[in-house]
Amino acid sequence: MIIISKKTIVIDPGHGGKDPGAVANGLIEKEINLDIAQKVGRSLKDYEAEVHLTRNDDSFVSLTDRANMANQLNADYFVSIHVNAGGGSGFESYIHTTENPGTAELRRIVHNRIMDFLSNKGIRDRGTKSANFSVLRNTIMPAVLLENLFIDNPSEAELLKDEIFRSNLALSITAGVAKALSLNKQQDDSSPSYDPVLALKETGLIKNYHQPDSNVTWWEFAVVMNRLLERIKK
Ligand SMILES: [Zn+2]
Repeated sequence: MIIISKKTIVIDPGHGGKDPGAVANGLIEKEINLDIAQKVGRSLKDYEAEVHLTRNDDSFVSLTDRANMANQLNADYFVSIHVNAGGGSGFESYIHTTENPGTAELRRIVHNRIMDFLSNKGIRDRGTKSANFSVLRNTIMPAVLLENLFIDNPSEAELLKDEIFRSNLALSITAGVAKALSLNKQQDDSSPSYDPVLALKETGLIKNYHQPDSNVTWWEFAVVMNRLLERIKK
């Protein structure tokens, strides 16, 4: 008998509601965190995993409620998404100061997979760190907190403003989590292993990235169809 046990993953977009997080260069941390977390949540659907977000909109959720939610779900992994601030640059990840070697090993895999992507973008590795953060302390399962670049660093803020960059960053987080937890790919073809909206943008048929679940107007549809017809004519 084969027992397939789906792993449960909680993605935690930091801050929200009355707590904006760091604000700089026209960016608000809570918004970047939510966008990256939702992208990770969507791409994890390619895998045999149950995914929950601690918030799915701009609402305020307390730090203890975030940890409690993961504990009640009996989650296998908790991934908190943040953007750094304070005059530095680069990427760093945190586990709790008292964490065991298993948690450190999961983090090592996730951290390295994300840095594989970021180092190609010229982002420096600030290293694997530990801290007594509330969500890391109060979650009973392995947990990691990612500080994705610095919002107050002008060149890193430019990257964070780029939808394509955020999509690819999210894909690297997903790939890291999938590798760390040995997640199996979903067999179902209805879960594409790529982002079709991103793929369409790369062809130039659409100029901007759009949220995959947002609606298309007839105007937008007609513009894309006409661009396609123009190309066929050439
Ligand atoms: Zn934060």
